[in-house]
Amino acid sequence: MTTSPFTVRTAAQMAGQLGGEPDALHDSTTPLARAAESTILARTGRPPLPRPHATRVLVVANQKGGVGKTTSTVNMAAALAQLGQRVLVIDLDPQGNASTALSIPHHRGVPSTYDMLVEGVPLADVMQESEEVSGLFVVPATIDLAGAEIELVSLVARENRLHRAIQAHPQIGSAHEAGEDRLDYVLVDCPPSLGLLTLNALVAGAEMLIPIQAEYYALEGLGQLLETVDMVKAHLNPRLVVSTILITMYDGRTRLAAGVAEEVREHFGEQVLRTSIPRSVRVSEAPSYGQTVMTYDPGSPGALCYLEAAREMATKGTR
Ligand code: ADP
Ligand code: MG
Repeated sequence: MTTSPFTVRTAAQMAGQLGGEPDALHDSTTPLARAAESTILARTGRPPLPRPHATRVLVVANQKGGVGKTTSTVNMAAALAQLGQRVLVIDLDPQGNASTALSIPHHRGVPSTYDMLVEGVPLADVMQESEEVSGLFVVPATIDLAGAEIELVSLVARENRLHRAIQAHPQIGSAHEAGEDRLDYVLVDCPPSLGLLTLNALVAGAEMLIPIQAEYYALEGLGQLLETVDMVKAHLNPRLVVSTILITMYDGRTRLAAGVAEEVREHFGEQVLRTSIPRSVRVSEAPSYGQTVMTYDPGSPGALCYLEAAREMATKGTR
């Protein structure tokens, strides 16, 4: 199959071309050529993405592990940045997987989420810029964060600390307050639990992005998450809404995946993005190269779907 790097292929076209082989499209161009292609894919032939009027703070949460929170955080963030937005990822998981995937140093001693939450270090002092993707910034998580869940308990305003740190940053806010250099998106990658770290995220964000893995038991446990959201809304953060549901690791060849996706759409309706993310080896191997799939293999179905999902989320929120 020959593909010109100058045409924009939609995820649907991609799926059609590839049939049952989601990873068949791997070509052997250089990383540089691929990076260029990603820029072209993001910018050619499609209307530019409008910037939101004020920074959108999205909490990526689901207390189940392995459903694609981190993968969706880093790839949605990279996709938004490739679409011209200024994006910050806050790694709130002591595992530091988002930091690894974005190739941001996060060994002990690096200024991190822990310093911001527990020590009160300003956000600006713990933020690093990605070398891979321009317009993408990251607050890494070091292993220290594992202790924060307990250390936070005895601190003043323990569930408000992330909110305060985010709101105190001069580049976060409306166009009027924060100017042209403002951050358009803040994505918070949560750990797989509903402890104080996740609670801090739910208090800090106005929107939630819930990734749901298209497999059996997908909806199990969501009740508990939604109850927590209601509790937070009632007592701590009335602005919080579940704005976006993203179906991940969708395997179009199985009936099960289709059934689960349908169930999720019945349950959540409009909140579910039309674009779901296919199960793809490219997506899962990108982190071991310190990359998101958006730069690792920008023409792959996974990358194109994240680009499409990011565009959808961005246009949905600013309509
Ligand atoms: P979480 O952050 O919710 O624990 P991850 O994003 O770390 O979940 O994903 C769990 C595992 O699934 C990881 O090994 C990741 O590489 C893999 N994975 C995530 N999304 C996809 C996908 N679309 N296709 C294939 N593997 C995926
Ligand atoms: Mg994770």
